[in-house]
Amino acid sequence: MTNPFPANRPSLVGVLALQGDVREHREVLERLGISVREVRRPRDLEGLDGLIIPGGESTTIARLIESNDLLHPLRAFCASGRAVWGTCAGAILLARQVDRLDRPGIAVMDIAVRRNAFGRQIQSFEADIEVEGLAGGPFRAVFIRAPKIEAVFPPARAIARLDDGTIVAAMQGNLLATSFHPELTDDPRFHQLFLAMAARASGTGK
Ligand code: GLN
Repeated sequence: MTNPFPANRPSLVGVLALQGDVREHREVLERLGISVREVRRPRDLEGLDGLIIPGGESTTIARLIESNDLLHPLRAFCASGRAVWGTCAGAILLARQVDRLDRPGIAVMDIAVRRNAFGRQIQSFEADIEVEGLAGGPFRAVFIRAPKIEAVFPPARAIARLDDGTIVAAMQGNLLATSFHPELTDDPRFHQLFLAMAARASGTGK
């Protein structure tokens, strides 16, 4: 019999731990009282309510996904309806369309992404952005050699933009992509948004 009182928070969340800012995500989640498992091989995905794909170097992470035989398991995880969030390089890996990635990414979100799109002179910057579904005022977003989300195709939709209209966060069902790094700020609201998605996904039986 299914539990008629699904938990309003996920019990176990994974962070893909091949390269990048794994520890920072882990720390935010643990501060929110969530158990975290680092994911390095296919069996690590078993029993997770959600998965974060961190920022780092998308070409390196894509290479390690391939060599660790994680590509198909990660695609299957995304297709299972459980929540998956890619930050920066993670967003690049979730996109179906990417420039200059020399091997397949996970490629499950209907978004087009351009890597390092803010130019050499702007390696990193911060901006206050309004995010759809995020109460409590603007979110301070940290961008580091960030990609631009150049287009979203339904059912994906933009949930945050810079003042000039550049899309910096998108959502598609159980999938979330941000071109910035909420794990590098003290503001846990983006992680809480993701945890609500993960709780919904696990509450509906995955
Ligand atoms: N520039 C990196 C890439 O293309 C992403 C940077 C990041 O994740 N902070 O993979």
